[in-house]
Amino acid sequence: MRGKVYLVGAGPGDYKLITLKALECIRKSDVIVYDRLANIEYLKEAKDNCEFINVGKASSNHLLPQDDINRLIADKALEGKIVTRLKGGDPYVFGRGGEEAELLRDENIDFEVVPGITSPIGGLCYAGIPITHRDYASSFHVITGHPRKDGKETKEINWNALANVKGTLVFLMGIANLKNISENLIKEGKDKNTPVAFISWATRANQRVVTATLENAYEVAIKENVKPPTLIVVGTVVNLREKLNFFEEKPLFGKNIVVTRCRAQSSTLAEKISDMGGNPIEIPTIKIEKVENNIELENEIKNIKDYSYIIFSSKNAVDIFFDKLNDMGYDARLLYKSKICVVGVETAKAIKARGIIADIIPQKYVAEGIYKELKDIINENDKILIPRAKNARDFLVSKLSEKCYVKEVIIYESVIDNNKKNLALEVIEDESVDYITFASSSTVKNFITLIGEENLKKLKNKKIISIGPITSKTIEDFGLGVYKEAEVATIDSTIEAISNDNYLLNKGELTC
Ligand code: SAH
Repeated sequence: MRGKVYLVGAGPGDYKLITLKALECIRKSDVIVYDRLANIEYLKEAKDNCEFINVGKASSNHLLPQDDINRLIADKALEGKIVTRLKGGDPYVFGRGGEEAELLRDENIDFEVVPGITSPIGGLCYAGIPITHRDYASSFHVITGHPRKDGKETKEINWNALANVKGTLVFLMGIANLKNISENLIKEGKDKNTPVAFISWATRANQRVVTATLENAYEVAIKENVKPPTLIVVGTVVNLREKLNFFEEKPLFGKNIVVTRCRAQSSTLAEKISDMGGNPIEIPTIKIEKVENNIELENEIKNIKDYSYIIFSSKNAVDIFFDKLNDMGYDARLLYKSKICVVGVETAKAIKARGIIADIIPQKYVAEGIYKELKDIINENDKILIPRAKNARDFLVSKLSEKCYVKEVIIYESVIDNNKKNLALEVIEDESVDYITFASSSTVKNFITLIGEENLKKLKNKKIISIGPITSKTIEDFGLGVYKEAEVATIDSTIEAISNDNYLLNKGELTC
């Protein structure tokens, strides 16, 4: 059996700038061969047993020579595997995708090419530079700035034509050869005052843009320490950046924000941070382990009609409870006799997704809030079911038990997730990390266990963001300060706390 190869463009870096087709290839592949310009976050989309092969570092410093990459891809397909060759931008724009495809055709291996948003298109856009403009540029030209070792390509570049064409020029892989590029263009008649932009790590949260003129481009690049991967843009359109720069104006642009929730929950927070231009660093500290073969839960579900109230205090509780209900062949209609109480908007959303609108959502998203809502409406004839986590706070069960029958069923346990311990240790040393977010007391405790109490003092230099009062108390019990607490205990409110802070900092209204 022969496999198949997909030569896939991953786009310029922003996670969401990938095609549906590319994502489909990633999801079905047995092997993914990638290099450094493809956003590695896409690998999370792969199948569990997918093999990942990293074949590239810096542009001139490939981990594997091109011929070996071609061979590797072909061999994996010959083993019968589905292979995705994942490349930054578009596979045929200086990605050497053509050579890879040729070999596949020569060996009669089935292949498809999935185009991607190439960096000259995506990168200029995110730098606020329209690549063409009716008033300034009626063509654009994408040129390699990386001469072949045998010198062939530089000879092929018609500097005279480029200098006089008046379109936007975009050089890829040009930083090492910048002096040559600007000198050649000026020599062939290009105005030395033509604006130049260097766009590094375009479309990512660490995008950096430096502007210059053709004449001082080389000095500016040295002074500003411009490094690959960088696009060099030469043309009057660069001036529009001041007006059209939307990406770098996003509220969290350039901010590195640590997200410590469990993987499943952190993705919403992480996604929102990315959408607002920030860089989420995910360090899940909690794993959810549900109680397997939960006979007790099954029994209570069978008797569910006896319960006048069911209380859910987390999305996990909702999901585990309803999955079990569904597995037993029931659906939400089984709960028609019970009033449903939930703690928190996320929990309310989760229950709505199961077809139920919660009857009671306390103003305060804590157990005390639920108690306050229930204490005057329940009586000794009521029965309350609380499916929840092991080691949850005792308050609710003990207070409600004073009034009526309360049944607590343990359905899951939150345990520490050690997978990202090394990243946690790096992050606390890293000065470029701006904020650390905590969305529960357990994330605080687990994060501190991961880094070790001896490193606690390193957290003192970080801005700690807490989702609510109980989490803040835990943070303070460790002797740390809470930089900001969310107004209401939700993810959106947590993000708002960060973006307001950032807004004020940018306006210079706050010092820190
Ligand atoms: N196939 C890729 C280009 C590969 S050549 C594409 O279509 O975009 C590698 C060069 O592309 C880098 O040296 C750099 O000049 C440019 N490049 C690619 N992605 C970039 C990014 N996100 N930011 C800046 N330059 C990038």
